[in-house]
Amino acid sequence: MSECTPGPWMVKHAGMQDEIWSDRGLVAELPLFPYGSVVVGANAGLIAVAPELLKALKDETGFYGQSISAVCQKPDQPNCMCRVCIRERTDAVIAKAEGRQ
Ligand SMILES: [Zn+2]
Repeated sequence: MSECTPGPWMVKHAGMQDEIWSDRGLVAELPLFPYGSVVVGANAGLIAVAPELLKALKDETGFYGQSISAVCQKPDQPNCMCRVCIRERTDAVIAKAEGRQ
């Protein structure tokens, strides 16, 4: 499992790029070209909250723990919104964020 730079992260506008910073230093640079400042700003905002999003997802799955023992009633439906399928997708994105997938 990989460890990312601990949050919080913040966005700084720096000329022709936006930057993501932590209190330990620069995390990422996002050049404004070719997407432009509006799209890059939105991307930077999303990236900057990634540590908080990951923690919230881990808190959520930790809150529910391993207690989900139900079975999806619509296993053929993509993006099913039942609790079982949401949990599977949440676990998968956490694994991806942590470099386990
Ligand atoms: Zn389901």
